[in-house]
Amino acid sequence: MALKRCKECGSEVSDQAFSCPNCGVPTPALDEDQVENIRQQGRFAQSRWFGGLLFFGGLAWLFFSAQSGGADGLSVLGRSGT
Ligand SMILES: [Zn+2]
Repeated sequence: MALKRCKECGSEVSDQAFSCPNCGVPTPALDEDQVENIRQQGRFAQSRWFGGLLFFGGLAWLFFSAQSGGADGLSVLGRSGT
């Protein structure tokens, strides 16, 4: 844990601090671009989570559609060959 200067008021705050004890600014030890990086990482993690949800949703859909009529569909395909 290190002390850094608050980006707003310049007083010393912990780099782990969520807000400056002097002026109350959030994440006082982080520069604006660092805060933006963290925001973008959060957005990236969110989109990855959403992509995973879609992926598993698709797998579940394939699984259930194969259980309900999937075998019939395959036999129909087999018959159409003859
Ligand atoms: Zn401050």
